[in-house]
Amino acid sequence: MYRKLVDMHVHTDNSPDGNHSSMFICEKAELMGVRALAFCDHCEIDTYYKEHYDKRVLQSYFEISKAQSAFRGKVLVLKGIELAQGHYDKQLSSDILKRFDYDVVIGSVHALRKTTDFCHLEGYTAENIKEYTEKYLKEVYNTVKWGEFDILAHLTYPFRYFYSKAGVEVKLSDYPEQVDAILSLLAEKEKALEINTGGLRLPVNKLSPEIDTVKRFKELGGKYVTFGSDAHYASDLCAGMDTAYDTMKQAGFEEFTIFQKRTPITVPIE
Ligand SMILES: [Zn+2]
Ligand SMILES: [Zn+2]
Repeated sequence: MYRKLVDMHVHTDNSPDGNHSSMFICEKAELMGVRALAFCDHCEIDTYYKEHYDKRVLQSYFEISKAQSAFRGKVLVLKGIELAQGHYDKQLSSDILKRFDYDVVIGSVHALRKTTDFCHLEGYTAENIKEYTEKYLKEVYNTVKWGEFDILAHLTYPFRYFYSKAGVEVKLSDYPEQVDAILSLLAEKEKALEINTGGLRLPVNKLSPEIDTVKRFKELGGKYVTFGSDAHYASDLCAGMDTAYDTMKQAGFEEFTIFQKRTPITVPIE
């Protein structure tokens, strides 16, 4: 339906849960007619040394650079990183960002302090889910306050696991004050809100975030929205893109955004 195939959130096999190389994904992108894509491999700041992100980040950057040269003139390959829990160690985050010349930095929260990724946590109950949600939204707010990123990823990240592991459906509309605080600060700092379609491929079957939140971001002065499939397989490249663009339009955005050299470039949605 939409002509401009762009994906700002793609993982390669330099992410622990990624499956395909950047070169393979680019071949697929060229065949599909994708104009631009950003490789944003995981970098979890709180387990940086334990899970060897020091090596992975270097390898990822090197391979993305190679794919960028190989596909020049065919697919615009953007060099990115998904920096999770960046504010848990601001010095380490800043050292990584200084070391590499990224086009785009995605900020996300996958884990609360001194615990593991929500995808690995067990024992969810209705009571602890409420507590987890409040703590999670507080850490997302702290991520935005820290601000060393361009795009805020998948705002409802843990909700997909609350649903698949405990059958509990959580809505951002139940936390209006915390959500407004996050969205206002994001807008004020001129950061982008990601419309992440990864959840459409999971039991929760929802965009992250959903349209009401995207609308609220616009009302609060948000300027930039990006689309990210969060693909961990080449076959998921641009998955859900039409739904994301429809949502942006219904929320009042006429343009989506890509980032090059950490600078937002807006493109009409058509
Ligand atoms: Zn993520
Ligand atoms: Zn991701």
